Amino acid sequence: MGQYRNGAGPMRVAQEAPFYRAAGDEAEVFRAAAGGGLPVLLKGPTGCGKTRFVQAMAHELGRELITIAGHEDMTSADLVGRFLLKGGETVWVDGPLTRAVRQGALCYLDEVVEARQDTIVVIHPLADHRRELALDRLGTTLPAADGFQLVISYNPGYQSVLKNIKESTRQRFVAIELGFPPAEIETEIVAREAGIDVRTAGDLVRLGNAIRNLDGAPLREVSSTRMLILAGALVAQGLGLRSAARSAIVQVLSDDPDVVHALGELADAVL
Ligand code: ADP
Repeated sequence: MGQYRNGAGPMRVAQEAPFYRAAGDEAEVFRAAAGGGLPVLLKGPTGCGKTRFVQAMAHELGRELITIAGHEDMTSADLVGRFLLKGGETVWVDGPLTRAVRQGALCYLDEVVEARQDTIVVIHPLADHRRELALDRLGTTLPAADGFQLVISYNPGYQSVLKNIKESTRQRFVAIELGFPPAEIETEIVAREAGIDVRTAGDLVRLGNAIRNLDGAPLREVSSTRMLILAGALVAQGLGLRSAARSAIVQVLSDDPDVVHALGELADAVL
């Protein structure tokens, strides 16, 4: 593995630790999983802090973080690599997963549920005791370098990731559920990230929770921490709280005029 760490080696430690405020024992669980080289399954709604959590853990563990955003057209070559024509020569170019395996990096596969079954099979031998990646095109198998760790995330509100991951593989993952944090912690996060006072952040969090607790609302997503921060950022720019909430939360959550109207009334009542 040494040879890949030399030369154009990746910068392993970011200058400043990413701010992540834990709401439970997720960091302890992650550290233990990392210590054992075990893959992690991160469950949680969009915008609840999964990416930030992985960034913070990678920084703490001193690992390079390689993030791959899953999508339905992703092929195994997008993960593993492919031969490309360069100046008349055919050269092999590692994909991000292969780079992570060689370098002993933390590989974060975001929203892996989007990927097709024939794409996702390449991670099976990496996630189980073999810890290796088959490079079929090169006719070789690459053992994962020390430090390599696979982290995959999905939103349990959507279609289940189970269908694309073999049960025997899935059982080797350590699952961590990240929901939206309790109000006082989320308030602290929103205040800090948006650069607003705690009182205003608390108002936005109350609105967020009021929307999350709506029964039977036809919303694909609920108001995420990310949306609350965005609304807060508008307030930090001088926009009124209600306008900010309408633009960054209400209008984003739905296009249905009735739903937008109802959410707008809720926002006006809370704020
Ligand atoms: P996800 O990956 O779950 O979609 P992100 O990690 O991108 O969500 O979170 C969205 C934003 O919310 C982050 O950029 C960060 O500003 C903030 N955030 C969410 N949860 C936390 C937390 N626990 N600590 C610090 N920031 C957080």
